[in-house]
Amino acid sequence: MSGESTWIRSAATLTPDGFWEGATVELHGARIAQVWTAGTAPPPAPGARVLELGSQVLLPGFVNAHTHAAMNLLRGFSDDKPLQRWLEEDVYPAEARLRPGDILWGTCAALLEMIRSGITTFVDMYFALDEVAEATRESGVRGVLGRGLVTVGGRGREALAEAAAFHAEADGSADGRITVWLAPHAPYTTTPDFLAEVGEVARRIGTGVHIHLSETAQEVAEAVRAWGVTPFGLMQEVGLDRQPLLAAHAVHLRPDDLERFANWKPGIAHNPISNLKMGCGMAPVARLLALGVPLGLGTDGAASANSLDFFLTMKASLWGARGLSGDPVRPNAEQILEAASLGGARALGMEGLIGSIRPGLAADLIGVSLEGVGLEPLHDRTSTLVYAATAEAVRTVMVDGRLLYRDGQFLTLDKDAILAHATEIARRLVARN
Ligand SMILES: [Zn+2]
Repeated sequence: MSGESTWIRSAATLTPDGFWEGATVELHGARIAQVWTAGTAPPPAPGARVLELGSQVLLPGFVNAHTHAAMNLLRGFSDDKPLQRWLEEDVYPAEARLRPGDILWGTCAALLEMIRSGITTFVDMYFALDEVAEATRESGVRGVLGRGLVTVGGRGREALAEAAAFHAEADGSADGRITVWLAPHAPYTTTPDFLAEVGEVARRIGTGVHIHLSETAQEVAEAVRAWGVTPFGLMQEVGLDRQPLLAAHAVHLRPDDLERFANWKPGIAHNPISNLKMGCGMAPVARLLALGVPLGLGTDGAASANSLDFFLTMKASLWGARGLSGDPVRPNAEQILEAASLGGARALGMEGLIGSIRPGLAADLIGVSLEGVGLEPLHDRTSTLVYAATAEAVRTVMVDGRLLYRDGQFLTLDKDAILAHATEIARRLVARN
């Protein structure tokens, strides 16, 4: 479809300058060519594709800045336990039963849910990346994929070498939709020496690092005890501030962390549902935004968050931040809607490709209906999108100009086959015998 032109008409288009009523977005192939204000678009060229979205509003696709997609298989099987016990008693034993092929189906199941929710880019940390990449390729979604690396069990170096080899093989594949990062799991499951090595490899191969950081108070206290610095401080000590860094969580920040962010702006993936449900706390969203730290939203995996509905993620982010601070004003709905797309793009350093609707960027677009029970009357689009809408409002999803979902129909993935396979696999994973 490289040269094909597409014209998208909708009730309003969210541009970097706010909503433009009645705008027309013109695509050339996979890219946005022009955004025409109402009444200024020339007639579509003969043979051009015209997409009439009627009363839907057109938004940049959402960027899910942190997830473990295949953990969709473990949704609802273990809840209401402290993080470490949840991992050790339930999650790790179930994951140990994963067989080749399972992660492909689990990731596809998550991608159905993400597409339905308007997510057009996902940042994944898991293993069997060839399967995650295959699911990404099939789905048509854009993926930033990282193999989770741990040193426990003594396979850290081998896994790092494999991750670097996977980067050489898959980075830029699927017409450029797949990006490969390195993903050491966390400081408490690796060592400072290993993290320094990950940084060296990342800089050598020219990629970024995705890691869990400062998720629980205990983790931060133990880091300070062991190394004399917070987890973010440790990143600077081992040189992980010298390539793009995406830190998932950043819930427990100490004053010296906030001082650090005056000069160093790591990307942050804020995962409010998982953090609130696990009782971990809540990232200081308004403070981070005020400091200019690029902040995106993440769902985390469905095993901890139970839902990949990005509209719920936006709500949890606002509710949690305000519940924590007592400030009913900051962050506001506009900031959170921006975090859902452009914030995630910035946290990845990919704002030149995704995250907004402007000429030159990838045509990663979603159409959202703000009509119907629970959504009307429509006074303010941002308010309805952030405070009232859920994933059901998403009607159109496109990545690189290719439609993936329209009016409840998945156009790239076989929903019924995926759900059936995923359920069968999930039953085997949790069978205790
Ligand atoms: Zn995570």
